[in-house]
Amino acid sequence: MDIELAKKIARFGLCDACLGRQFTGIDATDNKERGKKIREALNIEESQQCWLCDGLIDDIPLMAELAIDALKDYEFSTFLVGCKIDEEILLKEHRIATEASESIKREIDREIGKIIAREMNKLPDFKNPDIVVTIDTTCYGVEIDSKPIYIYGRYRKLVRNLPQTKWPCCHCNGLGCIYCNFTGKMYEESVEELIAFPALKASMASSESFHGAGREDIDVRMLGNGRPFILELKQPKKRNIDLKKLEEEINEYAKGKVEVLGLRFSSKEEVRKIKEAKHPKIYMVKIGYTKKEKIYEAVNALIGREISQATPTRVLHRRADIVRKRKILDIKIKEMKMNEATLIVKAESGTYIKELMTGDGGRTKPSLASLAGDEVKVLELDVIGIGDENEKVERI
Ligand SMILES: [Zn+2]
Ligand SMILES: [Zn+2]
Repeated sequence: MDIELAKKIARFGLCDACLGRQFTGIDATDNKERGKKIREALNIEESQQCWLCDGLIDDIPLMAELAIDALKDYEFSTFLVGCKIDEEILLKEHRIATEASESIKREIDREIGKIIAREMNKLPDFKNPDIVVTIDTTCYGVEIDSKPIYIYGRYRKLVRNLPQTKWPCCHCNGLGCIYCNFTGKMYEESVEELIAFPALKASMASSESFHGAGREDIDVRMLGNGRPFILELKQPKKRNIDLKKLEEEINEYAKGKVEVLGLRFSSKEEVRKIKEAKHPKIYMVKIGYTKKEKIYEAVNALIGREISQATPTRVLHRRADIVRKRKILDIKIKEMKMNEATLIVKAESGTYIKELMTGDGGRTKPSLASLAGDEVKVLELDVIGIGDENEKVERI
């Protein structure tokens, strides 16, 4: 130890912990003991009031107590403590810091962490903790950040006119007005809300985000193997969720409208994966026409055909006008009547099926309508299968 340096630093009037912290090279169990050793070597008294921390170090047990109190509401296995230190203390610390100094922040983080680990029987984790506790040491405020929970599943949408996600009222932007009956929403319910409500309850999360692997139109049902989704539950208090039970609760709550299957825990990385996924889809489409004899031939002409689709007229107001090529992997007639037929279509991800049928005034080429030389109407559309790595849809 550099006695001269220690003398100069001690002259500021420091508590043992603050003094010891500047000389971590000295062997001792903690900074307080280290400071005491230095003081004894210098033959001086411990300062009554610490110039650096002004008693903050002595309040570590109190701050830990406040943190533990706030953490009692949360389920977690791992945690991390981070504290905010007064600017003035940091400036003072800078003035006396030696090459062997530890920062006051580090000491407080570590010591509070030790108490929490011991009292609550939890593990500190510096990389990916369930909970981050932030303690503002200027006001002893405790803030808790609970890592989101991600739940993967597949949903079936059994009814039409149900949007996938919450749709804010376009007149009031979600604030609530006379047009939306003060709900703030265009549609009373959505797939998102029907799934999220029981999940928010089970996790006691503060909010959620719904990430779908694409979406179907509001008037299109999603049947078959269901569409993959990940529900992100933010700031959850409970994380040991029984997903089998949650699945039952959702299916009871959303009965007749939405069903979920195969719930399992997921991750943020998988959200990106399912959002980018380009999987072929299988549709069932009910169409109306006048020239029955032409339809059969037109359907056959579309098998394996590449079509070019300009952005549909119905979504032009919100999407760029571009032309894209998509392949019709397979198409067949399931049922045919005089002026109505039900077709099964397997197409590449992103194919506009309604426009494939109607032609959208020539914006989709070729279309069933153009090939049949007839006016074709879409009466009903359902997604009946999504082919992904879990659910191969080879043929229809
Ligand atoms: Zn001090
Ligand atoms: Zn409104």
